Amino acid sequence: MSVNVTMSSTVILDGIMIKMSQQKKRISTCNYKERFFVLDTQELKYSECRPGRKPILKGCIKLYSIKCVDMVFTYLPVPCEFKYPFQVFHGKHFLYIFAPDKDCRLRWVHALKEETKNNNLVEKYHPQLRMNGKWRCCKQSEKLAKGCVVYDPVDCGSKKTLPAIPDLEIERLSDGVHRIAIALQNYSPLGDRELALRKDEEYTLTDSSHPDWCYVRDERGNTGFVPRIHLSEISGKNFERFEWYSKNISRGEAENVLFKEGKEGAFVVRNSRQTGVYTVSVFTKAPGRSTGEKQPCVKHYQIRRTETGESSFYLAEKYLFRTIPELIHYHQHNAAGLITRLRHPVTQKGCCSQIIAHGSKDEREVDPDELTFGQELGRGQFGRVLWGEWREKKVALKLIKEDCMSNEDLKEEAKIMIKFNHSKLVQLYGVCTQRSPMCLVLEFMENGCLSDYLRAKMGHLSQDTMLGMCLDVTEGMAYLETSNFIHRDLAARNCLVSKSNVVKLSDFGMTRYVLDDQYTSSMCSKFPVKWSAPEVVKYCKFSSKSDVWSFGVLMWEVYTEGRRPYENQSNAQVVESLNAGMRLLKPRLAPEAVYLLMDWCWKERPVDRPSFALLLHELSELTEC
Ligand code: ADP
Repeated sequence: MSVNVTMSSTVILDGIMIKMSQQKKRISTCNYKERFFVLDTQELKYSECRPGRKPILKGCIKLYSIKCVDMVFTYLPVPCEFKYPFQVFHGKHFLYIFAPDKDCRLRWVHALKEETKNNNLVEKYHPQLRMNGKWRCCKQSEKLAKGCVVYDPVDCGSKKTLPAIPDLEIERLSDGVHRIAIALQNYSPLGDRELALRKDEEYTLTDSSHPDWCYVRDERGNTGFVPRIHLSEISGKNFERFEWYSKNISRGEAENVLFKEGKEGAFVVRNSRQTGVYTVSVFTKAPGRSTGEKQPCVKHYQIRRTETGESSFYLAEKYLFRTIPELIHYHQHNAAGLITRLRHPVTQKGCCSQIIAHGSKDEREVDPDELTFGQELGRGQFGRVLWGEWREKKVALKLIKEDCMSNEDLKEEAKIMIKFNHSKLVQLYGVCTQRSPMCLVLEFMENGCLSDYLRAKMGHLSQDTMLGMCLDVTEGMAYLETSNFIHRDLAARNCLVSKSNVVKLSDFGMTRYVLDDQYTSSMCSKFPVKWSAPEVVKYCKFSSKSDVWSFGVLMWEVYTEGRRPYENQSNAQVVESLNAGMRLLKPRLAPEAVYLLMDWCWKERPVDRPSFALLLHELSELTEC
């Protein structure tokens, strides 16, 4: 007598999710397919849904072949509608599934783990995607390379609610200022690149540019990533390391040092009489709002806190920050409600502490007798640019129209620009202020501005060249970003091309000093609305992340070979369509992966946009494949 044994199976979960194709190398929208998934006690099946018709079975995974199920963390924007990925590693294959929300993902991962917990499981797994032939988490290229994070067959990410640690080289990740933070609680590292935290211990913050992770050093010199939420960086004693902090200065003394300094935007941060409260005192010559008179004065702004919320410090109501250093840093670049931006930190002894300690005035000032003026190269918003010679070097001489920029501002700007020395920035050699009009002496760039160059080379630019151009700009911008410097007017017209076709940034930071209201007010005709992030158009809130938005438009200019963005639309129409969520379309020449990066730069919220360090990493990966 024969007995037919059929294992009965009970459906545990079902629902529509998106499956990423396992064959394709690149992330592209067409590699994502909506499927109806069914998990029962024997199998995980997925079928193509056809409205009104029978679904077609597309795949079936035996549960016993599953070796790992877990969340996938990605800080890359997910190019499909469902944003919550998880992975099923079975046999020798990785299946990536995208759930519509966090809860749904948790249900599936939990159920799958439960059904497979007694299988022959991996010890370690890869918490990130495999892309362009590499594991993003550990950089191994072998598809079946051992994982890099210990696999927990039961826990489904309760501890791992953060997106993956940025996979950058740490050297690139320094935001200039090292600060101290206190651990709010103990934290056990989940991977090799994380660091343990002990409650109440002090840590040096080496990098805090990532929204979720900080790179820190403990007192024993160990370094690693820790979740940002477990750190607090608000203790008053830590401000002592900042040049703008004058702890024991009174209101009257602050006024004295600032008046003595006499520079627009000279400022100090001091303790208020009320303990635990800080005040920003800033000198201005700007006309008073009520009288309209140009009377120098010192304004005092108390740093306040909202009752709730993670970002709670503010000077002007609209702009909230997590820490006081972040608040000061922001207002150093944006007036945003203050009478003037915080331009020059002044130390307690009264000397302006900012900018190039080395580099005396003489080094910057160019002797007019050493200059030879040649033919006109072009005209820009500041005036004419001439070909010239200086100390037997070919140079470009930018003559500054008198009504365009004040003498004082030009010198200040030159002080800043001259200290930047990077192969992807047009080098400023010096300024000549002893002649009229004054001029900037700049590195000569044989192939002129990038927008003209692109148009001239239309039809002859290879994919490598276009990607290389974007990489050059990103390198320059990543350098400015780590120097805490905001460009404010990034566009192809403000980049120049060298003899050997290297693209370099020019005009960085210059717009801050433009005296033309038409250019500086977002409502006016010359303001570069089509390159500007929404928060710049709405509130003039500039940041490295608003530069990132402009960089997205610049990439678009490169891949359209110099077309003007939103060609037939007015500024007002552009603002309206951006508000409605529309974005520039993919240029015909741009590969999917490149457009994905552009689109990432155009995220509505600045925090959702990548940093330049991250863009540099992403673009470099594309050159490798
Ligand atoms: P502005 O900053 O005043 O708007 P630009 O920097 O755009 O002026 O310069 C106007 C033109 O002068 C550019 O389009 C380019 O052709 C030329 N030019 C500017 N700087 C250089 C340089 N360093 N080397 C060669 N040409 C330059």
